[in-house]
Amino acid sequence: MTSLGGLEAPASIDHHKPPLCLHRAQHGIDANAVDDAALTVVQGLQDAGFDAFLVGGCVRDLLLGLSPKDFDVATNATPEDVKRVFRRARLIGRRFRIAHVRVGREVIEVSTFRQRAVAEDVTHARSRRDLKDLVTARSAEGLILRDNAYGTIDEDAFRRDFSVNALYYDPVTETVLDYVGGLDDLRQRRLRLIGDAATRLREDPVRILRAVRFAAKLDFDIDPETRDAIPHVASSIDSVAPARLFDELCKLFLLGHAAAAWELLQELGLVSTLFPDLRRSQQLDRLIATAMRGTDDRVKEDKPVTPGFLFAVLLWDSYQEKVAQYAEDRTLADPREAASSATLQDRGSKIVLPKRHAQFVREVWSLQPRLEAPKPRTVERLVAHPRFRAAYDFLLLRAESGEIDRTMADWWTSYQAEDTKTRAALRSELVPDKARRRRRRSRRPPAS
Ligand code: ATP
Ligand code: MG
Repeated sequence: MTSLGGLEAPASIDHHKPPLCLHRAQHGIDANAVDDAALTVVQGLQDAGFDAFLVGGCVRDLLLGLSPKDFDVATNATPEDVKRVFRRARLIGRRFRIAHVRVGREVIEVSTFRQRAVAEDVTHARSRRDLKDLVTARSAEGLILRDNAYGTIDEDAFRRDFSVNALYYDPVTETVLDYVGGLDDLRQRRLRLIGDAATRLREDPVRILRAVRFAAKLDFDIDPETRDAIPHVASSIDSVAPARLFDELCKLFLLGHAAAAWELLQELGLVSTLFPDLRRSQQLDRLIATAMRGTDDRVKEDKPVTPGFLFAVLLWDSYQEKVAQYAEDRTLADPREAASSATLQDRGSKIVLPKRHAQFVREVWSLQPRLEAPKPRTVERLVAHPRFRAAYDFLLLRAESGEIDRTMADWWTSYQAEDTKTRAALRSELVPDKARRRRRRSRRPPAS
């Protein structure tokens, strides 16, 4: 984004002001970087007489010279209109209907311009009629419960979260429209909530995590007003539905910027909000930071990443604490199993893992003692276990963070690299099962 220097962006938000309009030479977006399917959708809607733009993250990324994850379209056509223009469109969503338009193998999300009906809008309403049109219901905490009134493009801009996410790009005329000062913020590499920061965070506390995610991904500063509002609103993360919170944490940690995101969470005091059971220590910090960096490296190398692994790391400390606690309880047949159930199904916890991921975590944890003290007879069975690779990676991580001695982690590393013959030799070096039992027995004090 080289050509924005010196441009005057609107200093403050004014619903009546015309947008800042940038032409090709001013914004410098490479039209070839626009996805063909998205262009087809915009063009199709415009040919049918509607307004249509690219909007959100894709415009922000195009201006920054990054390649967008996906291309979203905003239009004044209603979802039903969109369906008339594109017979292959599917209307989805309960809270707010949007159209999914299939072009070739791609699906483009098309949303109709929406109002943001909140307290501020009530103040800005120009007539009683405007007021009546505000259909968003708000809970006592200011949370948006319903948000389904169509609006104009400028209303649509103001209901978005961050100014840099509220830019519109018409790929046909190659113009960028800015109603909210987003271009100026982009130039200053600043993440700023549109409107009153505390109100906007209270409306939807997930925006706190979105702020962290975008700041980490784009290496932007969070605007001071937004930053200051965070501690006052952080506790309302509790009101977010567990499934949405889990999705948002996955986006935070699995898109290649986990290390930076974790640092920001610490800086903003959000770690204890999200993981209240985490007892911070240097070693645990090392474990988590190493896991986050490792995940980022895997994303860079296009290797698969799974949320289970990171949650196994993040909840490891709570699990260990429960293992120690339950070990004393003689009524429990399997204290480790009880500890993992308690950690993963803790009803007071904010993070609830979907079953399949919880099972992954459970297996990675339960394999740890078996990898730390393998029996010769079970080694090959362990290697064939579907979670072996993840459990071994976890063991390595624990060794690297200094939680455990490196010996067994290194043993497994060489074991995997060897051929069948050497593997057998390595196995035979392990303390055999019987000897282990014998030795344990001999350690017992003689009966008096
Ligand atoms: P990404 O690069 O991760 O796709 P994005 O900005 O496109 O980033 P999305 O979650 O895909 O993020 O959302 C698309 C757009 O919808 C955003 O840019 C923003 O304008 C708007 N939006 C999304 N979530 C919210 C929210 N919680 N509150 C207000 N606006 C939102
Ligand atoms: Mg997006």
